[in-house]
Amino acid sequence: MTTLQIENVRATLEAGVSELSAVARWSRYGKRDVFFRTTHPLVTSSGAPFVPAILLSAMHRKLDLEVDAPVSDDVIQAARRVAGVFSAWHRGWHLSKVAAASAAAGEMQTPPPANGVAMFFSGGVDSFYSLQKHRSEITHLVFVSGFDIPVRHLAMRQLVTTELRRTAERIGLPLVEVETNLRELSDSVALSWEEQHGAAIAAVAYFLAPAFRKVFVPSTYALPFVVPYGSHPGVDPLWSTKHLDLVHDGIEATRFDKIGALISWDLALQSLRVCYALVEGRYNCCRCKKCLWTMAFLRAHGALAQARTFDKPLDLRALSETTLEKPEERYRFIQAIAMLERRGDDPELVDAMSKPLHRRYALRRNATRSLTRLRQSARASLRRAARECREFVRSQFSSTPREN
Ligand SMILES: [Zn+2]
Repeated sequence: MTTLQIENVRATLEAGVSELSAVARWSRYGKRDVFFRTTHPLVTSSGAPFVPAILLSAMHRKLDLEVDAPVSDDVIQAARRVAGVFSAWHRGWHLSKVAAASAAAGEMQTPPPANGVAMFFSGGVDSFYSLQKHRSEITHLVFVSGFDIPVRHLAMRQLVTTELRRTAERIGLPLVEVETNLRELSDSVALSWEEQHGAAIAAVAYFLAPAFRKVFVPSTYALPFVVPYGSHPGVDPLWSTKHLDLVHDGIEATRFDKIGALISWDLALQSLRVCYALVEGRYNCCRCKKCLWTMAFLRAHGALAQARTFDKPLDLRALSETTLEKPEERYRFIQAIAMLERRGDDPELVDAMSKPLHRRYALRRNATRSLTRLRQSARASLRRAARECREFVRSQFSSTPREN
């Protein structure tokens, strides 16, 4: 068999929980159940969510994708566009054919345009930054269990959802909680979550499509540092359909810039959750590199003391031992160091943040002079990045709006 089949698509409602489930079947890996669950009343019963949920796994394993359930032509076309991008990015991935048993019936099932505007919300810096920008437009926040926190981690899920419910209530927006095990399927075929998570977001957006006309997806990287990646400003919008816009938001700012934009928002500072370490009982572990970097950026912006979800002191030694693998990660550090040096009031933090850069560029000899050159080149990059962002934003506003 060279096709990955999605079979037995079922929509059920029991005890207030809506579930959409299916069986993914292919010869080499047998079969796996995939589900989406929520207590939100408006969800699709079509096979559409399984297309983005499974597409990249099929491409990665050189299989075509066939859904034995109604899926609209809109969704099939979107999948073909996204498959084209990923096959161009990854040599060796199969440009999967995508088919549904009954595209016409899927079209019939497409609901009339909804009014809601949702944003995927994990409680992190990217989420709060986009929420701050679009607060007046957003009607719902969406949190997904099964993405960063595996479905089986019940205690951690409970800790995080309890805190996020409280945060959403203080913001004044309903929190739509979705649970899915789709990551288990992509993990099982060794497809990295970095590749898969954008399509996984699209899958959840399709699941909730009857309730929303637009869904914001907070960006991870700023425009000058965008690389082929699961959630991408050039890919997320390709999942848009006639009735649903997927908007990749926040590429004009690095994570350091985003924290700077949040320091006057007490609620964000008091609620931030960035940790991926899954340490039992800890909302932020204060030890993993994402915690350490966020705490360093908060301290550089003079706001660490207000960030009550980071309840341990910043470990400067641990910070100095982190590694900066990606260009934007290095760039954020350089931004922080440049700000701290201008202020001159925290040499210990400058020292701790300089060490990973020294190691990265092997600047053991003549380190100060080399780092100065690096900072000069970073400032030139910053000016270039700002210019590219301005041009990008201008091109977006001057283009003809897409019809819904
Ligand atoms: Zn952590």
